[in-house]
Amino acid sequence: MLESVKQTSVYSALKLNNVLSHAYLFYSADKEKNNQIALTFARSLVCTNGTGCGICNGCKQFVGNSHPDVIVLQQDSIKVDDVKLLIEKLSTKPISANKKVFVILNAETINETAQNKLLKSLEEPNESTIFVLTTTKTDKLLPTILSRLNKVFVPNFSVNDKFLISNELLKQNIDISKFVEKDFSLTEMLNLATNEEYFKTINQISQLFYNLNSTADIPKVASALEVENKQLFFSCLTEMLLSCLNEKENKFDEKILLPIKLKFNNKALMKCLPLVDEGYKYLMSNVNFSYILDNLLFNMLKEKFLCK
Ligand SMILES: [Zn+2]
Repeated sequence: MLESVKQTSVYSALKLNNVLSHAYLFYSADKEKNNQIALTFARSLVCTNGTGCGICNGCKQFVGNSHPDVIVLQQDSIKVDDVKLLIEKLSTKPISANKKVFVILNAETINETAQNKLLKSLEEPNESTIFVLTTTKTDKLLPTILSRLNKVFVPNFSVNDKFLISNELLKQNIDISKFVEKDFSLTEMLNLATNEEYFKTINQISQLFYNLNSTADIPKVASALEVENKQLFFSCLTEMLLSCLNEKENKFDEKILLPIKLKFNNKALMKCLPLVDEGYKYLMSNVNFSYILDNLLFNMLKEKFLCK
């Protein structure tokens, strides 16, 4: 877990205190995620509001591939002539943004000669230029190139990682809002960080099902459960059951759902969903929570055995 917290390099590397490096490399095994984050970052660099707001002219032009200060290179093979062309454009001043931004997606496609050519520009950074590169294969880049790039690992966050990382960020008082836009996972992370209760609840539910093997366990697991927000308990439980059923929409860590998945097959899960809903309705009509919980767990276990 500590390792994932270290991966906050995404932010420290982005130098959120306004100190920008002249060249970045976003890397991980996930090509699409690398490119998405790199483009989001690049857009924020030419955004009038500095956020990648999506509304200003800079953002609009960026999205429409018509920003005069942005070049995005994405080719199966990037040759020396392509790099030469890029370098020619380095010498001119930015037209509408503060910086000119050169994005090279999947930089492993730059052949060696072209990399050597590019190296010169990276070695003698131009104040008004920022390079943003991505790759899934750092070993395809020359060590000399790599050493010139501010490397940003793009982690494949799990919900738990996000929670840990965002807590870490909050502790360090890092204001990431500046670079964040709606579809950027950082926003989500911050939301999650402010929602400790939510995480406590899903962990409690996971633990509950881990310890629940037969009806004899019900009194024990039910009394061990300390639920402050009872409505949240039901919405979390529903969300978790739905996630067990729908792998694609699953936003939980595998470990969180495992105690449920191991006990309930899909057929049982389908039967349990209305039970949870029913429990929620009882709660809303002021029925005692521990009574509802006992009943719910009993009926869920019943479905588990019936649906074998
Ligand atoms: Zn903008």
